[in-house]
Amino acid sequence: MPRIATTVAELRAALAERAPGARIGLVPTMGALHAGHVSLVSQARNHADIVVVSIFVNPTQFAPNEDFDAYPRTLEADLQKLAGGADIVFTPQAREIYPQGFATSISVAGPSAGLESDFRPHFFAGVATVVAKLLIAASPDIALFGEKDYQQLLVVKRLVRDLALPVAVMGVPTLRESDGLAMSSRNTYLSPDERKIAGRLNVVLKEAIVRAHGTGDLRAAEAGAIEALWKVGFNHVDYVAIRDSETLDHIAALDRPARILAAARIGKTRLIDNMAVALSVSEQA
Ligand code: AMP
Repeated sequence: MPRIATTVAELRAALAERAPGARIGLVPTMGALHAGHVSLVSQARNHADIVVVSIFVNPTQFAPNEDFDAYPRTLEADLQKLAGGADIVFTPQAREIYPQGFATSISVAGPSAGLESDFRPHFFAGVATVVAKLLIAASPDIALFGEKDYQQLLVVKRLVRDLALPVAVMGVPTLRESDGLAMSSRNTYLSPDERKIAGRLNVVLKEAIVRAHGTGDLRAAEAGAIEALWKVGFNHVDYVAIRDSETLDHIAALDRPARILAAARIGKTRLIDNMAVALSVSEQA
């Protein structure tokens, strides 16, 4: 079983015992681990000698009306899944990360503008602040983040570059269920009927990519996808957007690497997904 650290001091003491030159890999998570998280941990193992997984449901990235209280907390099962994969699991209490009087917030502009921020304006400051704390606490050589949260990955890369934090940030491809649904801790909220609808999100995005290639009209492809999501049973579509994959800037044509990103809700569950849009139809997976 991995060693558990609940304070930054314990984490640093555990890391200080490592062999000279041993490289540290960090995988930040909010727990309720699934195979997607485990793939980040395996990748970490490929690139580091000591693998640290943090499990912390970060209150500052949830708005008061969001699912902080309902968010699944499954520490025992998580530790089982990490056996053999992680060396150290960092599971701090909120007071450890946000001590009395905590007054710092890191705001990253650039890639955080729009998309998720239009619907969760608090989100990226919460993420950037906690990720900065985790990176400073663990001092990893490499930190791994999923492409599942693509905008978050770009925000973290920007944060690390801007603050010159001495860590390599690696994005890991999204792991999916057999019907293509991106694995997510929030999928456990879905009823069997909602789960079927959820499985359509990735299909609709793939169809939008084909349409974008076929017509060259990106706005029509986005609008078609939004309509298709409503039709298959989503209750609300926050956005479907085809953007520059490096900056998330608006683009008018597929003349550079692009990404399609979406967020939609079924009942109380909000799902996000995204995919690369290849430059030509023949390159599209
Ligand atoms: P979370 O616990 O949801 O905050 O996720 C922790 C990390 O796992 C983040 O970097 C996510 O992007 C990543 N992740 C979540 N779901 C997946 C997935 N299906 N495939 C790959 N990475 C994922």
